[in-house]
Amino acid sequence: MAGNPGQGLNRRALILSGAAATFAGRAWAGPPGLELAGRFQQGGFAIGRTAPRAQVRLDGEEVGQASAEGLFVVGFDRDGPPAAEIGVRTPDGEASHRAEIAKGVFDIQRISGLPEDEVTPSNPALLARLEAEARRKAEGFASHADLDDFKDGFVLPVRGFRLSARFGGQRILNGEPKRPHYGDDLAAPVGTPVHAPAAGVVSFAETGLHYEGGLIMIDHGQGLVSCYLHLSRVGVVRGEMVATGQLIGAVGKEGRATGPHLCWRLKWRGRNLDPMLLVGAQAPV
Ligand SMILES: [Zn+2]
Repeated sequence: MAGNPGQGLNRRALILSGAAATFAGRAWAGPPGLELAGRFQQGGFAIGRTAPRAQVRLDGEEVGQASAEGLFVVGFDRDGPPAAEIGVRTPDGEASHRAEIAKGVFDIQRISGLPEDEVTPSNPALLARLEAEARRKAEGFASHADLDDFKDGFVLPVRGFRLSARFGGQRILNGEPKRPHYGDDLAAPVGTPVHAPAAGVVSFAETGLHYEGGLIMIDHGQGLVSCYLHLSRVGVVRGEMVATGQLIGAVGKEGRATGPHLCWRLKWRGRNLDPMLLVGAQAPV
């Protein structure tokens, strides 16, 4: 009973082209399969399954290679366009899919009464410090570990929290429109344990940053880096491998924070994604 044509249609994932044959190995040379699952909205993502080490493209830009298992992730920026062209290529051919990207709905967040140096820093010593911190953070974001630890989605990093600010809110500080808020704020008491939402390698771990206080970044592979801000305790070091659910630190109110919370962020190759959208997500089967 070779090749029941209806079988693929029962899967939850989007079946886009000749996947089954590709996974059988090199014996059948043909275009790579491409299956996608995820949240096709601004701040969202897609997890793809294709041929091992296929080249991946997003909107015509090469964004790396699928993992040894054929998994990859692409992210849709908060301010990205209303459609995305996702493509894969092997020496045997290529496949692509154009996905509509739904517009995100974002809050307006007004915060007034902040000291002016917090809103628009002008002090030279502070500017130099911010520049040095930005350089070190950029190294953390640039980490590209050969992992696919996003494939089972995320678990929540904190148990028992109040979502005090959602991803993507437009910030107006002392009346001045500023960069949107690229995190989900999980309000919880100082000292509340913070756990890794998925396995990965720690690409940044420091305390005492001006804006972030204690900050951890975890690279989950394929350029997907999650961030934990305002920590009162940082319990991991750069280069350390962490497992899903592992204790990594504690909630705090360090840096520029109005109260104790975990600001949880997610970046993919420079794009800002909503980490909450990855909770409970799964790679296509
Ligand atoms: Zn935040």
